[in-house]
Amino acid sequence: MTAPESPAAAITLADLPLRDDLRGRSPYGAPQIDVPVRLNTNENPYPPSPGLAADLAEAVRRDAVSLNRYPDRDAVALREELAAYLGHGLGVERVWAANGSNEVLQQILQAFGGPGRSAMGFEPSYSMHPIIATGAATRWISGAREDDFGIDPDKAVAAVEEHRPDVVFLTSPNNPTGTALPLEVIARIAEAAPGMVVVDEAYFEFARTGTPSALSLLPGHPRLIVTRTMSKAFAMAGTRLGYLAADPAVIEALLLVRLPYHLSTLTQAAARIALAHRGELLGTVDRLRAERDACVAWLRGRGLAVADSDANFVLFGRFPDRRAVWEALLRHGVLIREVGPPEWLRVSIGTEDEMAAFRAAMAAVPAAGARSTRDTPAAGTSGRGDLEAIL
Ligand SMILES: *Cc1c(COP(=O)(O)O)cnc(C)c1O
Repeated sequence: MTAPESPAAAITLADLPLRDDLRGRSPYGAPQIDVPVRLNTNENPYPPSPGLAADLAEAVRRDAVSLNRYPDRDAVALREELAAYLGHGLGVERVWAANGSNEVLQQILQAFGGPGRSAMGFEPSYSMHPIIATGAATRWISGAREDDFGIDPDKAVAAVEEHRPDVVFLTSPNNPTGTALPLEVIARIAEAAPGMVVVDEAYFEFARTGTPSALSLLPGHPRLIVTRTMSKAFAMAGTRLGYLAADPAVIEALLLVRLPYHLSTLTQAAARIALAHRGELLGTVDRLRAERDACVAWLRGRGLAVADSDANFVLFGRFPDRRAVWEALLRHGVLIREVGPPEWLRVSIGTEDEMAAFRAAMAAVPAAGARSTRDTPAAGTSGRGDLEAIL
């Protein structure tokens, strides 16, 4: 008797007729591990208040009875309120919104990148920029930052003139380094670039006092786009709401590629509630900035290298085996992010208690001492050995 026919053999990704330019790629993958202290994806650790939650529930109840209808396709009321929040004399015709600034960036690449076109960023920077570019069949060109993670304007202008990218990404404050760019650097690059220039200001609200926004460069730079998000300072990462400010012609271009009704009625309602409660939501920013500055000072006090930060995270190092440090912190219930240049790690700023847990875990991990510091262990008691005991 022959065995019953086996169910269709499972196929693998390699068997599918995937686009050639996507073969061998890895998806975005910040680990989502359920541990007590999650300091890995730059979320705001303070949840919305019960009062905000009640207002949101009421807005959802109000809108629920019309969910048989499509949402406002152009999200006009929300965009008006976002424009008022941004200031700088902006109106609804200069502001656009989508599901997270990642979707905003994707729409920008769909409209201004694409097959035969290129996008350029200055790395280390946000890992999603090249991933979104690739998804939009846009060739990625990697420019370089300096040792202090800033951008040298002369070198950047030379790189832009050499490669002539259709889209340039400037992240300020930069992720994962925390570095904000002076407006002069942005203006120099915007004037040299032949195509669109996107300033990703996802962390702008966390910048140190006096740091100017690229919004002030919009007049006179019609190919400049400034993107923002509610995922970080607004403590609304779960809402998925990102937005941008640009010339009205840029928004006309984006209307050509956006999916109809891309922003759900409930997303629009949640974002408007968040804006109405912005005093409460943004009220946590000062606490987070103070914790950030304390974290920078504490890490430096341990002899570590720490990048200046205008964001809600800190990049620190340098660890010959950063994976070992990351794993050891995880054993202590603290999840940070292994990202950025080799030998560096990034910690998002949490609550006072979470940051105390981070410091305690760091102090308990001998290998978390800096390379060639006073912590260098004596022969026979290697830091690595202590770490293995913890693991
Ligand atoms: C977190 C982050 C974003 C936000 O993405 P959303 O899709 O709005 O959640 C955008 N840009 C940078 C540089 C970021 O770090």
